[in-house]
Amino acid sequence: MDAIRAESLVKNFGETKALDQASITIEKGELFFLLGASGCGKTTLLRCIAGLENPDSGRVLYGDRDVTGLPTHKREAAMVFQSYALWPHMSVGENVAFGLEERKVPRKEITQRVDEALAMVHLEGYNDRRIDHMSGGQQQRVALARALVVKPKCLLLDEPLSNLDAKLRLEMRREIRRIVKENNLTGVYVTHDQEEALSMADRMAVLDAGRVVQMGTPNDIYRNPLSAHVAGFIGETNLIEATVDRIVRDDDELGLSVSSPMGRFNGRISRRGWRPKEGSKVLVSIRPEALFVDYSGVPINRIRGKIKDRMYLGSHIQYRVAAAGDHLWSVTETNPHVIREDGDDIVLTADPADVIILKA
Ligand code: ATP
Repeated sequence: MDAIRAESLVKNFGETKALDQASITIEKGELFFLLGASGCGKTTLLRCIAGLENPDSGRVLYGDRDVTGLPTHKREAAMVFQSYALWPHMSVGENVAFGLEERKVPRKEITQRVDEALAMVHLEGYNDRRIDHMSGGQQQRVALARALVVKPKCLLLDEPLSNLDAKLRLEMRREIRRIVKENNLTGVYVTHDQEEALSMADRMAVLDAGRVVQMGTPNDIYRNPLSAHVAGFIGETNLIEATVDRIVRDDDELGLSVSSPMGRFNGRISRRGWRPKEGSKVLVSIRPEALFVDYSGVPINRIRGKIKDRMYLGSHIQYRVAAAGDHLWSVTETNPHVIREDGDDIVLTADPADVIILKA
């Protein structure tokens, strides 16, 4: 199967606009994430791609084939749900076989394909075990096997790890990526967990109020958010209001000098084609880990403040630093040698490459 495209999808539920001209292209073999705050429309978009929901307008294409209006099993797609949707009274084998029986696949072939699907999720030999005798992580693997057994080209996953504990979630992140890649599937995955998305995705789309506001690789979206909304949703950031003083660099990237109540900052824009004018209002975004503590190597972008409080976490420490009145900065220092006390003076600096100037 070639790329999956959603073109200008609109979906209303009464007064609620769940999708508002949402468009995405997912390349063949990609593990693609839909991400956004609760109610932004990501599940509705996944369900339209799956054939579980029909858009009011717009099209869904699998390659050149317009599949809008077709049910899931006619789209070469299989869905894995948050709740697993397994039959608790049936055995593992019976659960996995269910979709094949519905499709009237011959018994001998069913046995062979169930064994293959269980092997893919590393559950060989579990055929006769009852579902309610399987752990949460094993049940999730059965749900994956049940989706894989129909040999889909596209695997659709709706918050598949939400019911697992933290350790299993980490393990299953690797597993799901392995399964998608080993079977040459195109995966579309909905989550509100940004760490899950950053660690697993080839590319992702961030949605807001039914619209796709940014698409890109995890690193691109993290380092080059196009808006304060995306900067604040994907990871943590410090946002401050500022005014453009002048352009300091204009080559492949536009570098700006801006002034704020916290002082002057040199930074760069993340949005090609946007040229804020001198005197215009902007927002400055600096990630907590981009702030160096008491480091003299960067002569510009200095912030002087006092430590308000700290959280020591071994590998790193998180400070909240009060500067210029009440403004609180989040600062993350990795591998801390010195633990600073509340009320201590502190100087923070940031590399201009890590100071992102955004539309206000
Ligand atoms: P969450 O992370 O909370 O699951 P989401 O981003 O997946 O949210 P959707 O489930 O797609 O969001 O919902 C988008 C909007 O459409 C929400 O306001 C939701 O209440 C509404 N909505 C979704 N499905 C229905 C439905 N079947 N009937 C009425 N409203 C719905």
